[in-house]
Amino acid sequence: MPVDLDALFSGQRRALAKAITLIESTRASDRTAALSLLNACLPRSGASFRLGISGVPGVGKSTFIETFGQQLIQQGHRVCVLAVDPSSPKYGGSILGDKTRMERLSRADEAFIRPSPAGITLGGVAQRTRESILLAEAAGYDIILVETVGVGQSEHDVASMTDCFLVLMQPGAGDELQGIKKGILELADFIVVNKADGALAQTAEQTRIHYKNALGVLTHSGFWTPDVHLVSATTGLGIVDLWEHLKRYQAAAEETRDARRQQQALDWFTRLIDEGIQHQLLSQPRWATALSEARERVTSAQQTPPDAAASVLSSMISQLNHAESDHDSPIPQNPAR
Ligand code: GDP
Repeated sequence: MPVDLDALFSGQRRALAKAITLIESTRASDRTAALSLLNACLPRSGASFRLGISGVPGVGKSTFIETFGQQLIQQGHRVCVLAVDPSSPKYGGSILGDKTRMERLSRADEAFIRPSPAGITLGGVAQRTRESILLAEAAGYDIILVETVGVGQSEHDVASMTDCFLVLMQPGAGDELQGIKKGILELADFIVVNKADGALAQTAEQTRIHYKNALGVLTHSGFWTPDVHLVSATTGLGIVDLWEHLKRYQAAAEETRDARRQQQALDWFTRLIDEGIQHQLLSQPRWATALSEARERVTSAQQTPPDAAASVLSSMISQLNHAESDHDSPIPQNPAR
């Protein structure tokens, strides 16, 4: 399925949709084409403002993105919305899967919305999203919103591929009710209490103070001190003001952007190498067996984890060395052939 690069670079939505479909494909031949497509996009990537948006199901993420995204478009931006979604019913189902979400935004020519792909593991979705960000940047989208359900690993993945991390909160609910995991406040650059309207307005203000106090006890490093903002995604209250703060953040983050992009690229690379090595090893039956036996020794407390890991690794390394010396040997292993 060829992707028209001119169409992609001139920002045609259909070309971007096709490009993302290509990188989502699991066929080996598509993968080769996908890698060369990503190479072609690399020089045009990296300049967008990447914003992670997290929050439990029902907090108002899609309503917020619908309102916020339209505001950005009115200001001349081009907005791409991607999702990193564990796709499990346990977590409230697939986000962005429902076509009625962000209806008006999705009709705008300056917006591109891509649901989370179904049937891929979280690691696979995160990988796909990283690649999609490069494609969207090459297609001229200057603001990338990466939406995720705040349920655990996914927000760490999203934080590791974005410039800024925004967490949406419900008014009133306590930390447990909000499904807030320890550590989410450390990840957040912005905490946004949504639904600050009607009967919920006062509770929302109390919730803002609650999180402001919670933030006060955390030590933050770096160039930014996170704050708590009140918005209403349905009435639009507070969203212009929030964008002003986000722009200030973007300007402050600009100085460190190159270093952050380099670090993100290295982290991504390291992760791919680690996953690739594991995948290669586990596809070899004898090592898969050795690993599962070692796991059993660890869980039954017959062996300590460091000892078990050291013995599996040393047997792998000695087999690899052995294979390499066979390969290098000047004497043909099978002279008959
Ligand atoms: P998501 O699951 O986080 O994407 O949440 P949705 O955007 O689908 O919103 C969940 C529900 O909250 C819907 O019924 C929305 O209409 C409602 N909602 C979202 N934002 C607001 C808001 O600012 N104020 C009020 N009162 N309701 C909202």
